[in-house]
Amino acid sequence: MEIINRRQRMASVARKVRREQDRTIGLVPTMGALHDGHLSLIREARRMCDVVVVSVFVNPTQFSLDEDFDRYPRDLTKDAAILTDYNVDYIFAPTIEEIYPKDFSTYITVSGLSEQLEGVSRPGHFRGVATVVTVLLNIVRPDFAFFGQKDAQQTLVIKRLVRDLAFDTEIVVLPTVREESGLALSSRNAYLNEGERRAALVLYRALSSAKEAYAEGERSGSRLASIVQATVAAEPLARIDYVSVADADTLESLERLNDRTVLIALAVHIGRARLIDNITLNRKKNGVAANA
Ligand code: AMP
Repeated sequence: MEIINRRQRMASVARKVRREQDRTIGLVPTMGALHDGHLSLIREARRMCDVVVVSVFVNPTQFSLDEDFDRYPRDLTKDAAILTDYNVDYIFAPTIEEIYPKDFSTYITVSGLSEQLEGVSRPGHFRGVATVVTVLLNIVRPDFAFFGQKDAQQTLVIKRLVRDLAFDTEIVVLPTVREESGLALSSRNAYLNEGERRAALVLYRALSSAKEAYAEGERSGSRLASIVQATVAAEPLARIDYVSVADADTLESLERLNDRTVLIALAVHIGRARLIDNITLNRKKNGVAANA
């Protein structure tokens, strides 16, 4: 395994893999502080691709000034030790200047999708995400890039970006990895103390209550949203940011769900952490409804 810091080196290594060795490349973009959620993506990349590149880059342009860029957990030595065990070929860990050279002035905006849900609370967030993903895809030119359903809106934004700008990369989305308690793994869980961690279980509990109501026949978007809201409101340490019941592909807010595939997503502040989670209802596989 090699740790690469320079974009030139990363690009030339990837070019060689593609041209001289005719091997496929899988890219797993991360911000580090690796956990089992990241590792599930890496395992799938390892299974599907000849060469696996994991990028570790805390991307400043996707944080607004009042967010946690400065205190976001960073430990490349620990991440590298984990990745050695997973048989990763390259870690791409660039400095900010490698990704954003002096006078960087080109940004990517995925209109519409970026302005819903997270985009309301975090204006500019997806502009930062789309821009860094564009740079990473252009440097590595992977055959496949792997993302987690945990960041459901991000997967939609990136799929749209890749389609619209004709990137030659297939986007693979993998399910959210949870603790046994239901808590979705997240690098930001490190901000929680013991009590807050217990309180954080309310996100999945709230989503599960909505899922139950849906299973019992509830098809009103606002009533499902109310169930999620009421569950979170009952947890004193939690402060709700948003709850959304929307079409899982377009993020259009839904009142009558009918047989649509539905994304229920929420963001909640607990202590110093802002946590997000989601579930999908009535996901259709090969045209047949399947469990989320
Ligand atoms: P991050 O380091 O938080 O930017 O995440 C890097 C990638 O890992 C993104 O594609 C995330 O969606 C994915 N990811 C983060 N947490 C999880 C999780 N609990 N389960 C599955 N994927 C995850």
